[in-house]
Amino acid sequence: MVSGYRPSQRCLVVEDSSAMRQLLVFALGRIPGLEVVEATDGADALRKLAGSHFDLVVTDLNMPILDGLKLVHRLRHDPMHRAVPIVVVTTEAGDEDRRRALELGANAYITKPIQASKMLAAANELLGRTVPAKVERE
Ligand SMILES: [Mg+2]
Repeated sequence: MVSGYRPSQRCLVVEDSSAMRQLLVFALGRIPGLEVVEATDGADALRKLAGSHFDLVVTDLNMPILDGLKLVHRLRHDPMHRAVPIVVVTTEAGDEDRRRALELGANAYITKPIQASKMLAAANELLGRTVPAKVERE
């Protein structure tokens, strides 16, 4: 029995590298009842966000067309998405990007190389999921 289970939450993964995107999608796919939608850059993300509800956005920063910082900025000024939790994926050397993303309204960050456990911890927390009791006891 997993407490806090919600059958229909949606997450948008925004990442231009297909390998990195697959890794994120695979990690997030372990969250029960979470639908994961993929976008290949910020502009693609805005198209997918238009008129749709999402419970979480996970975004890379360095992307062509519309980068992650611009995406965070746009979402925080969009009445429909201003409250959506955002996790940014940054490089280890990306202190300045990280600072800027949080300043623009991102809620959390994870650092590349991506560890599935960190992605899951951040996502579960921001989705308001509680950790299954059997894991808490371990
Ligand atoms: Mg990138």
